[in-house]
Amino acid sequence: MSVLAAERKVAIQAVLQASKVCQSVFKNLVSGETITKNDKSPVTVADFSAQAVVNTYLREHFPEDPIVGEEDSKDLRGDTGKALREKVLELTNGVFSESEKLSEDKLLEAIDRGNYAGGATGRHWALDPIDGTKGFLRGGQYAVCLALIVDGEVQLGVMGCPNLPVDASKPDGPRGSLFIAVKGQGAFQRAFSDINESPIKFSNITSTQEATFCESVESGHSSHSDSAQIAQLLGITREPVRMDSQAKYCSISRADADIYLRLPVSATYVEKIWDHASGSLLVTEAGGAISDVNGNKLDFSVGRTLAKNKGVIASNASIHEQVLKAVQTVLSKKQ
Ligand code: AMP
Ligand code: MG
Repeated sequence: MSVLAAERKVAIQAVLQASKVCQSVFKNLVSGETITKNDKSPVTVADFSAQAVVNTYLREHFPEDPIVGEEDSKDLRGDTGKALREKVLELTNGVFSESEKLSEDKLLEAIDRGNYAGGATGRHWALDPIDGTKGFLRGGQYAVCLALIVDGEVQLGVMGCPNLPVDASKPDGPRGSLFIAVKGQGAFQRAFSDINESPIKFSNITSTQEATFCESVESGHSSHSDSAQIAQLLGITREPVRMDSQAKYCSISRADADIYLRLPVSATYVEKIWDHASGSLLVTEAGGAISDVNGNKLDFSVGRTLAKNKGVIASNASIHEQVLKAVQTVLSKKQ
């Protein structure tokens, strides 16, 4: 059996089930417009449920492994959290069989299993139960992202993108794409509905002029004005592809685009490990290169954040140095 085969299998199952929870919330609460003003936002309900589902799977199969998860149960506790708690419990239990169903206490415990501090030694998981909440609400891109980090290095990444077309050349075709990477074993994609996986690879462009870059829809998460200047320096003429969530990592890793720019908008924002762990491994296993805007390797060993890094640049490996240089030229002018 190959290295991390059991972890791979469980992570896929957990991400698929959590993605299904998100899809059903969208169908019933967002597009159905059944939420009232006093309800917690549907994205909150889906976020907590997805974390409970993934953490429950991980606990069952790898009880010793700690988890760095984005959410905690604070808002679900006490009288004020009752309505939300009941909704989250119903949704979470929707994916489990009778004998596996969680009590309220077990639900809160499962969510809070995501409170690990992270660090440089041993194994831990990093989970973003819904990355791209704005994309989720607008029916655009969002992703359930799970990674296994061992001694500070990402070893396994699984990402579920419920709204990403399985084939980018058929934007109106089937949606629901799952991405898997294991260190040293390559990067793969499959449809939610099909267990067969196909290997994925970065584009093979050699000139930045041929490149398409992608970035956040939200200019508050990545500077659009800086990226426009960088594109100009690189001779890029194609319009940027703006997309919410870590689906950007998936898109470049299967050659839908060539470059992902995440350019700091504030001096104080620190990136979170759950926003980049699985995506960074997918990139390198698909033959791409990734660094921060200073050219440093993303460092997943320092806790729940990427405290030693600033921004992210991912691209085809052959143009990465050139992209980095353009990024630094534009950013240095601002200082
Ligand atoms: P995106 O979908 O690429 O816009 O990224 C969504 C992620 O941006 C969320 O998971 C947040 O954790 C993260 N985020 C929130 N504020 C900022 C910020 N000021 N700079 C960069 N990322 C942020
Ligand atoms: Mg996120």
